[in-house]
Amino acid sequence: MSHLTETQLQGLADGTLRGPEGLAAREHCETCAGCDAELSAYGALVRTLSALQDPPPPLDFTASVLAAVEVRETQLSQRRHTLLASLPAAAMAIFAIAGWALSTTPAAHVDRLVDGVTVLRHLFGVLTPVFNAMRLPLGLGAFVFLAVVLTALSRTLRPIHARAPGN
Ligand SMILES: [Zn+2]
Repeated sequence: MSHLTETQLQGLADGTLRGPEGLAAREHCETCAGCDAELSAYGALVRTLSALQDPPPPLDFTASVLAAVEVRETQLSQRRHTLLASLPAAAMAIFAIAGWALSTTPAAHVDRLVDGVTVLRHLFGVLTPVFNAMRLPLGLGAFVFLAVVLTALSRTLRPIHARAPGN
């Protein structure tokens, strides 16, 4: 029988080489000084490796992770609060735009929508109570919301205007 391969020696050392092959390998080591010495070296290596332990985590590891999670939670919670706080502003903007839409006849409505300057004047007129009632960031959010609503309205109403009699 030829000398054992590295794989066989490792298998013998860590106990994964079993059965007839393991038996034959072990018998070879008993009669071959070279392979027996290698097996001893592998065995020492296996024992050293299994004696190694994972390095302990830093003492403040858990604390710092928990602190980071807490900061993240606070940020998310604050974002939710900001969102909730902007809802009244959005509701006011909806009421304001609905009231403005109902207060004008459709034709005048369309004419004013097409006239960009008039639209802007209406926009600021509608927004004034919002700015007064809310803090500036929330007012700006409502401003953006109103701009989106007005844009959508003008896009919806422009075809009607084009088809209106006398055009
Ligand atoms: Zn040998």
